[in-house]
Amino acid sequence: MDMPSATNRNFIEQIIDADIASGKWGQPGDGSVVTTRFPPEPNGYLHIGHAKAICLNFGLAEQFGGRFLLRFDDTNPAKEEQEFVDSIVGDVRWLGAAWAGEVRFASNYFDRMFGWAVELIEKGLAYVDQQTPEQIRTGRGSVTEPGVNSPYRDRPASESLDLFARMKAGEFEDGAMVLRAKIDMASPNMNLRDPVMYRIVNAAHHRTGDTWHIYPMYDWAHGLEDSIEGVTHSICTLEFENHRPLYDWFIDAINEGRSEPIRHPQQIEFARLEPTYIVTSKRKLKQLVDDGHVSGWDDPRMPTISGLRRRGFTPESIRIFTEATGVTKYKGTHDVGLLENAVRDHLNKVAPRRMAVLDPVKVVITNWAEFGQAGRTEYHEAVNNPEDESAGTRKVPFTGELYIEREDFMEDPPKKFFRLGPGREVRLRYGYWIRCHDYVKDDAGNVTEIRCTFDPQTKGGNSPPPDAEGKVRKVKGTLHWVSAEHAVDAEVRLIDRLFTVEQPNRAPKDAPADWSFLDVLNPDSMRVIASAKLEPAILETAGEPTWRDGIRRFQFERLGYFCIDADSDPNEKLIFNRTVTLKDRWAKVKRK
Ligand code: ATP
Ligand code: MG
Repeated sequence: MDMPSATNRNFIEQIIDADIASGKWGQPGDGSVVTTRFPPEPNGYLHIGHAKAICLNFGLAEQFGGRFLLRFDDTNPAKEEQEFVDSIVGDVRWLGAAWAGEVRFASNYFDRMFGWAVELIEKGLAYVDQQTPEQIRTGRGSVTEPGVNSPYRDRPASESLDLFARMKAGEFEDGAMVLRAKIDMASPNMNLRDPVMYRIVNAAHHRTGDTWHIYPMYDWAHGLEDSIEGVTHSICTLEFENHRPLYDWFIDAINEGRSEPIRHPQQIEFARLEPTYIVTSKRKLKQLVDDGHVSGWDDPRMPTISGLRRRGFTPESIRIFTEATGVTKYKGTHDVGLLENAVRDHLNKVAPRRMAVLDPVKVVITNWAEFGQAGRTEYHEAVNNPEDESAGTRKVPFTGELYIEREDFMEDPPKKFFRLGPGREVRLRYGYWIRCHDYVKDDAGNVTEIRCTFDPQTKGGNSPPPDAEGKVRKVKGTLHWVSAEHAVDAEVRLIDRLFTVEQPNRAPKDAPADWSFLDVLNPDSMRVIASAKLEPAILETAGEPTWRDGIRRFQFERLGYFCIDADSDPNEKLIFNRTVTLKDRWAKVKRK
């Protein structure tokens, strides 16, 4: 048989290639040869790890011309809510993973699953167990010891059928009894020691209301959901590898004596995405929210999809990152720097440039009036995006009073400081070259004003013509700036990594017994600048791309990438979140 080349194909693609070659799921072109799905439980917000699962499943369906499904595994009414369903649907849509048909829900299959469970009881393959939860737990044994059979294991099917029907009708308290599969209490695979199929939960379900008093366990339901929907390649993370024999057992049990067997989806396990400096456990994320360490699930520091979106990450950058991390069977972590680089690369191509001064200090151009009237405003042309000519240009106002970044001035600068200092000359981007001749300090020693002259021959920031000896003057530093009179005030949130260590899940070797991941929270993960100064073009949208999600993103020259936060009121107060910094060359010099 002719096999497609395995070069550069990940192991899942290789499996699918082989399935297509063997005709396992039918003939290519009928649309069902590759059906994948994303099956979230609506009990929390999605995070970057889920993004990986979404992009992987969607990407495979797209690549092979198949179907990608979105299905909620809504089998636990106690922890699930409509709020989570809504946020998950929004996140998957935002990522651009278009699902085939309607959003699906496991709860739509409750009737069918119940019918199959009844059949299993009739076939002697399931029984109602009235032991206490504690007895059931100890009866399962351990990895080293076999379990013991429940005293109810061999009760007549008629008894189990009667009790199961009454469990469903709501006659019993939570925990009074369960339905268990009759497999093997001595199996070396703990998952096969008569696993629970149904438990009693007397709670309203967000979709089925009070219809049900019993709910299927994940392990019973999951493979059946896949089978019902015709999922061919059921892709999940490694921890489900030893559940696979159970999923197969359930489908075989249903098929026993059936003329039309239901299909076995093929489960394929891959290693979870675990980026550094991030926690992805739902429990820990919930703790961060509940204990107020962050403002909510969509806090821009959270590794949730909604948090990343709010921080300015683009769907494209997340897809590129998840693809770059590959598909493997080996557990490992991935440098979060790859994610940050992905958004840098993407925004570098598409984000319009603007000037913003985060820590303003005033510059007065003392010879401004000599070359025209004192209060004159000039409008200089500025390029919106040097990577994209079609983004055009804008006008930035230049006046005799400007703001520059406080750290761009030093009273006594070292040689390698190519910015402003007494006697030094710099270029103001798109403005003029200016030279500092004086500065003013307050009683506390803070510089309050920097006095400079400008060279009218450097308009637009261009080099002046050669002098009499034919020499052209040079400057090394280019600063960003904003006209004081025209500046727009904004709050800027400097977002940084939420944790200070690469693996916030792992206690250090010498950690005290009560160590927690909260001990390595970064106290500097969000610095709020109440009053940054922005160029006025920020109030217009001309020259900006149409962002599919409506979130306006920018490169603030020399500072990084920023987006307008959802909390902003364009008429009252603009709020920006820093998505990611640019590289800081000065920081490198300092380190030397
Ligand atoms: P839990 O089941 O404990 O509530 P979960 O993270 O597994 O948490 P689900 O809603 O069950 O949440 O996950 C949906 C899908 O996302 C599953 O198929 C799961 O394998 C996948 N997934 C979850 N975390 C990651 C991760 N870090 N990397 C890749 N895929 C993941
Ligand atoms: Mg799960």
